[in-house]
Amino acid sequence: MARFIFVTGGVVSSLGKGLTSAALGALLQARGFKVRLRKLDPYLNVDPGTMSPYQHGEVYVTDDGAETDLDLGHYERFTGVPSRRSDNVTTGQIYSKVIARERRGDYLGATVQVIPHVTDAIKEFVRADVTDEDFVVCEIGGTVGDIEGLPFLEAIRQLGNELGRDGAMFIHLTLLPYIASAGELKTKPTQHSVKELQSLGIQPDVVVCRSEHEIAEDARRKIALFCNLRREAVIQALDVDTIYAVPRAYHEEGLDGEVCRHFRIESPAPDLAAWDRVTRSIQQPDGEVTIGVVGKYTTLLDAYKSLAEALTHGGIANNLSVKVNWLDSEIFETDGAAQELEGVHGILVPGGFGERGAEGKIAAARFAREREVPYFGICFGMQMAVIEAARNLAGVPGAGSTEFGPCADPVVGLLTEWTRGNLVERRDDRSELGGTMRLGAYPCVVEQGSRIAEVYGVRELSERHRHRYEVNINYRKALEDAGLRFSGMSPDGELPEIVEIPAHPWYIGVQFHPELKSKPFDPHPLFTSFIKAAVEQSRLM
Ligand code: GLN
Repeated sequence: MARFIFVTGGVVSSLGKGLTSAALGALLQARGFKVRLRKLDPYLNVDPGTMSPYQHGEVYVTDDGAETDLDLGHYERFTGVPSRRSDNVTTGQIYSKVIARERRGDYLGATVQVIPHVTDAIKEFVRADVTDEDFVVCEIGGTVGDIEGLPFLEAIRQLGNELGRDGAMFIHLTLLPYIASAGELKTKPTQHSVKELQSLGIQPDVVVCRSEHEIAEDARRKIALFCNLRREAVIQALDVDTIYAVPRAYHEEGLDGEVCRHFRIESPAPDLAAWDRVTRSIQQPDGEVTIGVVGKYTTLLDAYKSLAEALTHGGIANNLSVKVNWLDSEIFETDGAAQELEGVHGILVPGGFGERGAEGKIAAARFAREREVPYFGICFGMQMAVIEAARNLAGVPGAGSTEFGPCADPVVGLLTEWTRGNLVERRDDRSELGGTMRLGAYPCVVEQGSRIAEVYGVRELSERHRHRYEVNINYRKALEDAGLRFSGMSPDGELPEIVEIPAHPWYIGVQFHPELKSKPFDPHPLFTSFIKAAVEQSRLM
């Protein structure tokens, strides 16, 4: 039977509960256990798919087509276990389910209430879709004390009782602020946050304390005393210079040991050799390349979380550090801005939505093509590259995307029909916005002899999608005659998935999001190859 570990957070948000959960998952895995990680999100949106990246950061897409919280990206990067729809739930989903049941009459005349009906739905979710896992690490979003989080905390309290000590464990992550004038780390916010949890009926088994400074022994003892814990159950979490050093750091502080102790499990020490290799290559690279990422949400890096990580992974594969220049695409809409791209060794245009900044991305794609700088277009970045090639190579000056309104030559148009397995999906411009994109894993067949075939080393691949528009196949001939090869297509030959320019040193656009599947210990081949091309470019400069 799976054991459940619930991870809550206190004091402030953004302490890295996601990373803590992911790192704990990795440690248990390194001890030979099978793990799953999931997240309970207290906000009311059904999923983050309709939220602005400025509000919520990146939307992480799973193979089975769910739009989920970006923490699922951490989970997958740290454990390699593909996330599923059943690994992320929100208040919006829970309430939709409860209300639908009420309308069907499933509650047989009962007054429907937060306890037990909403909490039952949460518990059902937590325990669903678990088979032979040894551990399920379940993170609760938000901070203890938030009104929205209460039903979730109540549900895990009940689960704690139902599963018993051998089936459930509670870990609470807090912050010890450093007061410079007193030269002291303060434990009071941690004490209060644990009290708050206790008042809800939850006694944490372990408290993990984020801190910028070493936590002195007396402070640890004090936290243990006030929080009703053993001294060993107070774990110090100091800042580290790369997130991939977190599993090793937590192990040294005894986190996974405490988990095994709690569940009374004898297990050999974890094998962390792969993590040590990853950190070494980040800390001791042989050199550096610079990549210009031309996007829209460049002031909030969480909006491109997986992308930033995948670039780092491409660096790991080449034993290099990757410096990223985040460039706002709108600057390329004014004259002379191209000089921002002069020094970079590769240009990447990531996924995006809407017209703002689109012309700047098209200008960046043109710069990369004409100056023979490696170019990597992802989703929107591929679509903009195709528009650029249509306008400036294939002689279609009116080329555009219908995402921005009607245009003379819709080289990129609304995706109205596609197949998923043996199901036909249909959309039109009146379809709802939530959850209706082409989402999740789809197969793609690559052309023999193409660069992409060489990059992947296989003929059929599967990658994750999240888009509403597609490259219009009616322009294929004109574009191919002009030098843009359609080197990857959906198996039915209907949807262009990959384009490349064979005459260019490295120019690839993909309709999918390869960054979602890259891992530090298994870098994605497209990122490995792109960074390698950037190294070649740096040698020419
Ligand atoms: N906005 C584009 C579309 O919907 C691209 C989406 C993306 O880059 N993820 O097709």
